Amino acid sequence: MSLQYYRPTFIKVNLQAIQNNIKRLQETLPKHTGVIAVVKANGYGHGDIAVAQAALKAGANLLAVATPEEALRLREAGIRADILLLGTSPLSFLEEASKHNITLTAYSYEWLNATRDLHRPLKLHIKIDSGMGRIGFTEEKELKKALAFIQERDWLHVTGVFTHFATADEQDQTLFQQQVSTFEKLLNVFEQIPALVHTSNSAAALIYPDQHWNAVRFGISMYGIPPSPWVKGELPFLLEKALTLHTEVTHVKKVPKGSTIGYGASYVALSDEWIATIPIGYADGLLRKLHNQSVLIKGKKMPIVGKICMDQCMIRLDEKVKIGEKVVLIGKQENEEILIEEWAETLQTIPYEVCCTFSDRVPRIYS
Ligand code: PLP
Repeated sequence: MSLQYYRPTFIKVNLQAIQNNIKRLQETLPKHTGVIAVVKANGYGHGDIAVAQAALKAGANLLAVATPEEALRLREAGIRADILLLGTSPLSFLEEASKHNITLTAYSYEWLNATRDLHRPLKLHIKIDSGMGRIGFTEEKELKKALAFIQERDWLHVTGVFTHFATADEQDQTLFQQQVSTFEKLLNVFEQIPALVHTSNSAAALIYPDQHWNAVRFGISMYGIPPSPWVKGELPFLLEKALTLHTEVTHVKKVPKGSTIGYGASYVALSDEWIATIPIGYADGLLRKLHNQSVLIKGKKMPIVGKICMDQCMIRLDEKVKIGEKVVLIGKQENEEILIEEWAETLQTIPYEVCCTFSDRVPRIYS
């Protein structure tokens, strides 16, 4: 049974924008540099399978996810491309990883040693912790021991080595440069450099061409979102935003001055006002802290009033509109635009988190 959507609330994902962002990035990269499309967390909320397929079509060489479940979802969808699992993998996943050709991240000797009974082909990328402080080898001695362990097991195949930058999106390069030298130092431990060496996230991929090695991990900016306001000012090309959020007016009424709107009666109409109700709430990702945010109706910004409910919220209009009037919460309508960055600012967070907050209840429609 195919799922029919009745509620007019949806996220539109422009897959062409994703492909264009990859192609534009590729144009700035040296010829031999691959693109690893980061599709973890349901493709940053955009839909992992559709984004993965679009990214591969645009020429991405590898997909990156964070969890075993995310990797298996892509395989179940019939995606045959190489998949790298960036996070930690429980030992219970090793056989499945081998069976489905999923490359795992080897991040400590302890973890590697625990894989000793697998005796099945397993691809690994070695993770160096050069300053992020999350996972990865930090010491030459441990790394040497790990590489010796791998060499003794012909079913383990090291196909890559990588690190992750903590501050590539910041103007101050101090830690970034330290991470570069730490990574290079640990890279010297390898007798043979693995086929893929990758350090750059979106920020570094866009800003630091000397850090490309032979692949970059393209996450947030593949979706058309700058990693930080600083990077936004330094972009080598215009990013195309992929995600917009839409709904429609489902109810309109004129309320007399003094009427209260929503839970807690926190909003009181200052005069006779037109109030619209729209079918989107915090269970969809329109978090309650966004109560001061506006939406676009007829190309104009109209404020949310009252507390945002679980499934609906109310909007103060400057004129009566019809039921079914189009509402844009993120995206463009006529000459006005609301960016995901604006939501992030209101929520005192980063656009990454906003993307991941849209719930499964909101259908993703692809164009
Ligand atoms: N590489 C790793 C290890 C990550 O954890 C992430 C994202 O968190 C990325 C790459 C992609 O980073 P960005 O979305 O900033 O491009």
